Amino acid sequence: MQKIYFYNTRTRKKEEFRPIEQGKVGIYSCGPTVYAYAHIGNMRAYVFADSLRRMFELIGYDVKHVMNITDVGHLVSDADDGEDKMEVGKKLEGLDAWGLAEKYTKAFFKHAEKLHIKKPHVVCKATDHIKEQIEMVKKLEDADYTYIIDDGVYFDTSKFAEYGKMAKLDIEGLQLGARIDSAGKKNKTDFALWKFSPKDTKRDMEWDSPWGRGFPGWHIECSAMSSKYLGEQFDIHTGGIDHIPVHHTNEIAQSECASGKEPFVNYWLHCEFLSLDKDTKMSKSKGDVLTIDSLEEKGYSPLAYRYLLLTSHYRNPIKFSFDSLKMAKKTLRKLQKHILSIKKNAKDIVALSDIAIKHKENFLNAICDDLNTAKALAELHAVIADKDITDSEKYELIKYFDLALGFDFVNMQENKDIDIPAEILDLVAMRDEARQNKNWEESDRLRDKIIGLGYELKDTANGAEVRLKDGNI
Ligand SMILES: [Zn+2]
Repeated sequence: MQKIYFYNTRTRKKEEFRPIEQGKVGIYSCGPTVYAYAHIGNMRAYVFADSLRRMFELIGYDVKHVMNITDVGHLVSDADDGEDKMEVGKKLEGLDAWGLAEKYTKAFFKHAEKLHIKKPHVVCKATDHIKEQIEMVKKLEDADYTYIIDDGVYFDTSKFAEYGKMAKLDIEGLQLGARIDSAGKKNKTDFALWKFSPKDTKRDMEWDSPWGRGFPGWHIECSAMSSKYLGEQFDIHTGGIDHIPVHHTNEIAQSECASGKEPFVNYWLHCEFLSLDKDTKMSKSKGDVLTIDSLEEKGYSPLAYRYLLLTSHYRNPIKFSFDSLKMAKKTLRKLQKHILSIKKNAKDIVALSDIAIKHKENFLNAICDDLNTAKALAELHAVIADKDITDSEKYELIKYFDLALGFDFVNMQENKDIDIPAEILDLVAMRDEARQNKNWEESDRLRDKIIGLGYELKDTANGAEVRLKDGNI
């Protein structure tokens, strides 16, 4: 089988991947906290996890991908300070916490689908797994890792000698300089396993437990659900680099102390940040967060954003700008046009030539070398430019590469996917309807919007024709 290498945060080394069970891989990804729309930067971690899953599928692994939905317990500060994010969100929106979670879970999956992120095999909500979380806290209590103070049940990190090892935390330094933020906590790094509901307020989400009415801490959900679906030890855990010092450090502590087995996870893979450039940040300060929907409103397809993400290695930070997105859009459009013309000439073939086989090897070596999507994309461009292989061979390779890249080149349609994005066609249809109803104000408004997005309109007897303005990409 093809060899795979990953940079493992646990060992800080690039290592060959060896699954627990031959031919199978279990992957757990920390999912979204559903109290607001996911920002485009949040979506980077899910495109990364999707590429990882696709890579394993491409080379024939039996993959089980599990992702949680944090719909309770994630406090404003990762260190158990402040309010539950769900409670903050609901106050802003006039929904209860359940309604808020439902709204933003739906929005998350809508955005994920537009980015061609495959839905994980198991999507598990924290609120559906209260029993499992309570059971895990009980196990920790029985093994004497916990203590109770006014506001909840806490994990005593001083009892776990390995605490903070992956994150290389300076525990002594932390303790010395620390203001202990929750009254009664024994160590700065101790964290809540179960929080009690405030005495004077009724929460939308609260449950009975052996320790009192309340709700689970954020970290315990990932430990309880990953072990339920993947076992007490499994192959790969993914998340953003921001999770290393607190969330993942606490997951390791809870899981290893509850099961008595280590390591909890063999390979920890962490994705870097996407930051916004100065100009883009300005629009954020006005209160609108940059989402997949807002990219579409500005005339960028979600796939152009996927392309942009794949041009960087997941362990490199990305500085997002509309200039770089525009460049990605232009390159993807060119690529799609080339592929469409190759597809027209392609015929079924029996075997690949040596040159084509070499391209395939290069692609596999790139994608299996710590998921080097940038190098893999470069190989796709090399295939398209290669004059020594036939279009039929090229199309075979493109179809194969696309299983890992996820652009669905096979099913793209010339007009819809390349020249005019679906959202522009929708606007044109809405304008046609407004014209039929003689609603001139609305039709003018829609016309201006379409033109503003870089398209030209020509009215004909059969409705409006739309095309890209010359010079625009
Ligand atoms: Zn998690």
